[in-house]
Amino acid sequence: MKIIKTIESYDLYRSSLKTQSLGFVATMGALHLGHISLVEQSLKNNQTTVVSIFINATQFDCINDLNNYPSALDNDLKLLKQAGVNAVFLPVYDGIYPDDYVFQIQENRLSKKLCGAYRDGHFDGVLTVVMKLLNIIKPTNAYFGEKDFQQLTLIKQMVSAFFINTVIVGCPIIREADGLAMSSRNLRLNKLQRQQAVLLYQTISSHKNIKQMRKKLTEIGFDVDYIEVMNDRLLVAAYLDEIRLIDNIEYKNMKEISA
Ligand code: AMP
Repeated sequence: MKIIKTIESYDLYRSSLKTQSLGFVATMGALHLGHISLVEQSLKNNQTTVVSIFINATQFDCINDLNNYPSALDNDLKLLKQAGVNAVFLPVYDGIYPDDYVFQIQENRLSKKLCGAYRDGHFDGVLTVVMKLLNIIKPTNAYFGEKDFQQLTLIKQMVSAFFINTVIVGCPIIREADGLAMSSRNLRLNKLQRQQAVLLYQTISSHKNIKQMRKKLTEIGFDVDYIEVMNDRLLVAAYLDEIRLIDNIEYKNMKEISA
């Protein structure tokens, strides 16, 4: 597995590839089975798979969240090697943002709703870094999780709007045995918070109406940012103390919970 730290080295690697199809998975590290499921999908569908690990400071609206974001590089590299990844791209801030983020990608509709309504500038940071990574890596296919459903939707729309020559593939949410959606932020949950956290998924799967779900989550101890419908999904974001969790679930019949 090649470890690549600069765009110049990546360009050399990219041009040396004889492969037809390159799959790409963008991550912020502290990898878990959710990330690995994206990697496995890429390995299955492409001759070469590249994974990036980059904690993207520009998408954090809260400095504490950035400072507390978990990092586990040695373990991440071990997992990626075991999985059979061909190359890992590990850029630094100045490599990705030589302009210090004066140029930004902004979407003016969906990015202002749901998570965007509560996390100022979050999706500007996400879309900007994804655009940059797609331009650097030049993948045939790029894999993103439905765990971040609004992000996935925005990335698909951006790729279409800017005629980017990469197929965006959405991958299902991987959950712990009890249903909690896997997330790097779960590492920060204490024992009690971990027990509360599983109730997020249980509540949104409960077929109660949205008002009742919000009430239930508040009773459990969540500080709910939103619980809202988008297309055929119910999306939720809620805090346990300062740890923000998100999840979503597909409902075939939205009417039964929208009342
Ligand atoms: P992150 O490292 O949190 O930026 O996530 C990197 C990618 O992994 C994103 O496309 C996420 O949507 C995806 N991802 C994170 N958690 C999960 C999960 N539990 N199941 C599936 N995909 C996930």
